[in-house]
Amino acid sequence: MNDLKREDFEVKKLGKATILSPIYKNYKEAAPDKEYIDDSRRIIYDASLDAFNSAKSSEEEPISFLKAGARKDIYFDPSKTKAAIVTCGGLCPGINNVIRGLVNGLYYRYNVKNIWGIQYGYQGFISDYGHEMVKLTPNVVKDIHLFGGTILGSSRGRQDISAMVDTLERENINILFTIGGDGTLSGNHVIQQEIERRGLKIATAGIPKTIDNDVNFMTKTFGFDTAFTTAASIVRDAHNEATGAYNGVAIVKLMGRDSGFIAANAALAMPDVNFVLIPESKFDMYGPKGFLNELKKRVDERHHALVVVAEGAGQHLFEEGDEVLDKSGNVKHKDIGVYLKDEINKFFADENMEATVKYIDPSYIIRSEVAIPADSVFCNDLALNAVHGAMAGFTDFVVGRWHNQFTYLPIPVATASRKKIDIDGPLWWSVLETTGQPINMYNE
Ligand code: ATP
Ligand code: MG
Repeated sequence: MNDLKREDFEVKKLGKATILSPIYKNYKEAAPDKEYIDDSRRIIYDASLDAFNSAKSSEEEPISFLKAGARKDIYFDPSKTKAAIVTCGGLCPGINNVIRGLVNGLYYRYNVKNIWGIQYGYQGFISDYGHEMVKLTPNVVKDIHLFGGTILGSSRGRQDISAMVDTLERENINILFTIGGDGTLSGNHVIQQEIERRGLKIATAGIPKTIDNDVNFMTKTFGFDTAFTTAASIVRDAHNEATGAYNGVAIVKLMGRDSGFIAANAALAMPDVNFVLIPESKFDMYGPKGFLNELKKRVDERHHALVVVAEGAGQHLFEEGDEVLDKSGNVKHKDIGVYLKDEINKFFADENMEATVKYIDPSYIIRSEVAIPADSVFCNDLALNAVHGAMAGFTDFVVGRWHNQFTYLPIPVATASRKKIDIDGPLWWSVLETTGQPINMYNE
């Protein structure tokens, strides 16, 4: 929990919501029992009976998250509201679905007709780049869910916060929706601080985009289901490659900079995988417990092997000190996939064993995939809840899901640290049981 306190989960609000929501007006006769969410409704963090009992005996209010959803009263007057949407960072399946959901939610549910797309990430706020803002209507976005990527374009690299807020002010934007990863959300938070410093009433809402599914306090982020579903079919093909040659070894590198959720889930979905290597579980290449020894045992026995590796796995195997950063200052990982391929080839040559090693890196194909139906539904729900929250006047928040309910979290708690696989928990144990790989491939 990183010592987070009850108050850290309080979402900021621009002011009192005093305008009757158009949703309420539209539905009050046809659906008088439709549920509207009051700001006191919260979703508990730890749903176990133990936690409940301990909270009861200590009389301390447990950690909980604000419940997302349509409020009866809203802060922004729809006819005077101008909204903007920006997408930053790497691609992830479902971004276009989120954009479509935001536009349709604003337009049809709240009658907000003034909606704009900022092009190429935060660059779009800086006039020097010359990226025009594009008007978004339901007609413009009607087919975009049929394509991967983002219709607005994306970028990396820091932009001047003050210049970005100047643009928000100059363009009279009332609500900014940011779709992006931890960098984008940190950017959103800093923008919000500048907005506050200037005494402006602009709401900023984030929809977390991380294909790795590594946002804290969220069961799942959009694009993850599509990513591991697509990955699973590639893993199946790789298995065919492995079995197609005597002593065939196929390696598939999947996304997962700091956490191995995609690799773990793809392997569970396609249980032909023999080894899953993830950032959370350190492994050696050599030595009695090392990976190569285990791989040899497997190949001797069955004459083929399938390895799935997350991009952030085994980084300790590289020499330290020559870190490469991308434009946004993220550490670029050394290519563990290529490294494994070379080391495995070398190892089998040294052992005088015939082996065929095939290396597959489908990352860019997966990132730009079209969202599968389950993700499409999820994207739309996230977008709609982001719209409800922003229209109600909440700001500096992200929308998430916990215990199957949509929630609003302050950006700082969502970006404070990353979610990782618990290597003593049930997900990793399922992987160990399914693959049959040793619990530990580290010599220490
Ligand atoms: P991904 O998961 O693909 O890395 P991301 O949103 O983290 O997505 P980044 O490229 O890291 O992608 O960041 C997106 C944008 O946010 C970049 O333009 C970056 O410069 C900006 N940004 C990141 N951190 C900050 C910050 N603290 N203040 C201002 N801008 C920031
Ligand atoms: Mg990032």
